[in-house]
Amino acid sequence: MLKATKVRLYPTPEQELALAKSFGCARWYWNFALNACIQHYQETGKSLKLASYKGMLPQLKKEYPWLKENCYSSVLQCVAINLDRAYKNFFEGRAKFPNFKSKHHKQSIQYPQSVTVNGEYLKVPKIGEIKAIFHREVTGKIKTVTISKTSTDKYFASILCEVEGTDVKQSGDNIIGIDLGLKDFAITHNGENATKYANPKHLYRHQKNLARKQKKLSRKTKGSKSREKFRKIVAKVHEKITNSRQDFLHKLSRKLVNESQVIVVENLNVKGMVKNRKLSKAISDVGWGKFVNFIDYKLKQSNGELVEIDRFFPSSKTCSSCGHVLDGLSLDIREWDCPNCHTHHDRDENAALNIRNEGIRILTEGGGNLVFADGGCVRPPACKSKGHWSVNSEAYTALVGSV
Ligand SMILES: [Zn+2]
Repeated sequence: MLKATKVRLYPTPEQELALAKSFGCARWYWNFALNACIQHYQETGKSLKLASYKGMLPQLKKEYPWLKENCYSSVLQCVAINLDRAYKNFFEGRAKFPNFKSKHHKQSIQYPQSVTVNGEYLKVPKIGEIKAIFHREVTGKIKTVTISKTSTDKYFASILCEVEGTDVKQSGDNIIGIDLGLKDFAITHNGENATKYANPKHLYRHQKNLARKQKKLSRKTKGSKSREKFRKIVAKVHEKITNSRQDFLHKLSRKLVNESQVIVVENLNVKGMVKNRKLSKAISDVGWGKFVNFIDYKLKQSNGELVEIDRFFPSSKTCSSCGHVLDGLSLDIREWDCPNCHTHHDRDENAALNIRNEGIRILTEGGGNLVFADGGCVRPPACKSKGHWSVNSEAYTALVGSV
């Protein structure tokens, strides 16, 4: 089972410089390889294989010695793997086309191994021992460490560990995906189990009460004393509903945040959905937007992380077992069988698990939403004009010649 710990890092000025160089190399190689993929496709109509652009690395390091000097080799390997995954996700309809990375956004690099925790320090190859604040002990085997720098110049490390499944319950290190439902309020998945949280029944009761009282109110003569009295009664019921909904959202978000270090949600366009009349009442009532806000600020207090995934991601109609994407899945279908691997799925549980997996993918790629932010079109990278990189390098020529 995977657990995540997010820690704030306090690098020295020298370490900041070393990190900046590593970020730069990873970004450069991502953009180089992405451009090579695009050019190769334009020239041959075929997509470039992972082994091809991974294979360019030794030659690139010869051509650009700073690549070798400034960046730990595994970091670049991770870039290649992440680009390959981004491409696959695009072709299989799970994500938008990968974007070029800019130095003006959040920066990140990923280490598949070799990072160790040493007391209050995180020991990172080529960077050194960086001072870190650990709010909880890092247990288990470190799988990946993603070091990022925010646009406000704060440094963080997301440490993903593999742990035995036993000590999960009492600790709050889970990574959970949440699918916000209509039948149930929310469905969570922690990678092993799904949990459904129903809409509170008393809310429904209050709602019926409100409808009854509003009807009575409408029958009262305008300007009459009893109408004024009833107006106040209705306002009170309204207040009660607002309070108990707020209370429910606070309690549930608190529970989930206590259990988790990372929470993955879909970035829903609630306004857009409310336009759909049929669903509008249920959606405005359950208060999704508010719920995500509550989770967000509570996670910030506990140093956790909210990962919002793209609405584009087809969480409901993707099979969480084999990745097969259905053509469509109407709202009334609550359970389905995958035509590819025959796994039986509960609609909402499958969606919550997919949301979690997608969150982990984004987390381990480090780029967060930026990887696919406003994707769909390919922008020329900012650094291209400065001649920092070009696919007309020897590595690329050698590669194309060999294909
Ligand atoms: Zn399947």
